[in-house]
Amino acid sequence: MSDEKSQPHKNKIPPKTSMALEPLRFGIDIDGTISQAPRHFKRLIDALLERGNEVYIVTGRFEDTRRMTKDLLDSLSIRYTQVIMRPVDWPSTVPDYKVQVMQEKDIHLMIDDDDEICWAIQTQTKTLAAHMLPIPETSEAHAVKARLHRKERQRSYRAAKREGR
Ligand SMILES: [Mg+2]
Repeated sequence: MSDEKSQPHKNKIPPKTSMALEPLRFGIDIDGTISQAPRHFKRLIDALLERGNEVYIVTGRFEDTRRMTKDLLDSLSIRYTQVIMRPVDWPSTVPDYKVQVMQEKDIHLMIDDDDEICWAIQTQTKTLAAHMLPIPETSEAHAVKARLHRKERQRSYRAAKREGR
């Protein structure tokens, strides 16, 4: 009987890099991540850099848009250790590209909004992949509050009914 059969639930995700006692290297995506919550990521990145960690902006955007991309980050006051962009002649997929960056830079934790990218990184590298968006900041906040309010009203209505009020 193979090991795999005797341990059907054992996953094949590689052991993660130790995060003990060294500056941590973070990777953060732009589109759908920083762009989705720029103030949140500014606060996070400032805190990480102030504590001596490294922050790599890892984007699937092509290298030939570097100036525009840096202008965008500047306009959001996003600081970084380095911006890493996809070569224009990259022959494969964006998940493959980011997997390679994780290995080359030995990133401890990568924050990305894309499921496929997170999964590729999680299963193929020692990097920990995370979705780490904050609670909705602006346009969505109203909808979330309205939803909570609705649920709260439903709860109190049901409670009142139970008590025969
Ligand atoms: Mg993205």
